[in-house]
Amino acid sequence: MIIVLKPDATQAQIDHIVKQITKLGLKPMISQGTERTIIGVIGPEDILRVTPLEVYPGVENVLPVLTPYKLAAREFKKEGTVIKISDNVIVGAKKIVVMAGPCAVENFDGLYEIGKAVKKAGAQVLRGGAFKPRTSPYSFQGLGEEGLKYLSQVGKDVGLATVTEVMDTRDVALVEKYADILQIGARNMQNFNLLKEVGLTKKPILLKRGPSSTIKDLLMSAEYILSGGNLNVMVCERGIRTFEDSTRNTLDVSAVPVIKYLSHLPVIIDPSHAAGKWNLVSPLAKAGVAAGCDGLIIEVHPHPEEALSDGAQSLLPEKFSQLMQELKVLAKALGREI
Ligand code: PEP
Ligand code: MN
Repeated sequence: MIIVLKPDATQAQIDHIVKQITKLGLKPMISQGTERTIIGVIGPEDILRVTPLEVYPGVENVLPVLTPYKLAAREFKKEGTVIKISDNVIVGAKKIVVMAGPCAVENFDGLYEIGKAVKKAGAQVLRGGAFKPRTSPYSFQGLGEEGLKYLSQVGKDVGLATVTEVMDTRDVALVEKYADILQIGARNMQNFNLLKEVGLTKKPILLKRGPSSTIKDLLMSAEYILSGGNLNVMVCERGIRTFEDSTRNTLDVSAVPVIKYLSHLPVIIDPSHAAGKWNLVSPLAKAGVAAGCDGLIIEVHPHPEEALSDGAQSLLPEKFSQLMQELKVLAKALGREI
């Protein structure tokens, strides 16, 4: 249920409605639009049948939200969500935010070299996993807290915000201490306890689409985070499982306009995990930008053959730099910036 307020609704009227909703045991979530305020009502809506909210001063309309996700729905928020990552990094605005770096943080010097290179090429966020979700328990699992320290230090040294994955509810506080964006990996998209936990934090969340999940599933997972009180959620298309086996996953480019239609959340494209091969990363990144994404997350490594994970899909820094030049032209033609 959403309560659409009149354009001239006063703060006192809003406060009164919020108080009444809370009293009924429901949770009000406020969305402040440029023209009017909308209050999302979360909880068992049956109560509202006996307590009509239309009667409160300041209310224009009370509408049911027909989708199972409420706060993630476009109906709840007409304007696209804009997320402030740091003073000069904003996701969901005209500028497309590029996040780049190695799959995993491997050591300080290597990360510093990559950080310098991607910053120079125009990236705004440094990526790098410290907790790695590997298919095999014998593969490199990440450096843990040591990796988080390197990521945070390199980010500060070179002037980049940071994004890294959190895999476990027990690590949320730790990762939150070091990173600017918490990434929920594709494999954990439906780890509901983890979603609830990051919903309680204030940090922006990069929620990746599970390889076998529908867009509706993805938005339902986003809803878990939003309903916990964290409204800074961006969703990421990183390729899904199909019968096609010439790529690691199939990049669902249509997810960008579909999510933009259904939801107000910013959409990020990960061409690296979709492609699985470095030579396909550039065309898929361009496809994402052409489809209207708000950001890209791209794996870069100066020695892909020595990378401890995902070397095959990592771009050399010079290839990344070339891609950024090409994306600048494309973004400009589309009325965006990069
Ligand atoms: C990653 O970003 O390195 C990663 C493991 O991504 P995904 O969860 O999309 O597989
Ligand atoms: Mn990876």
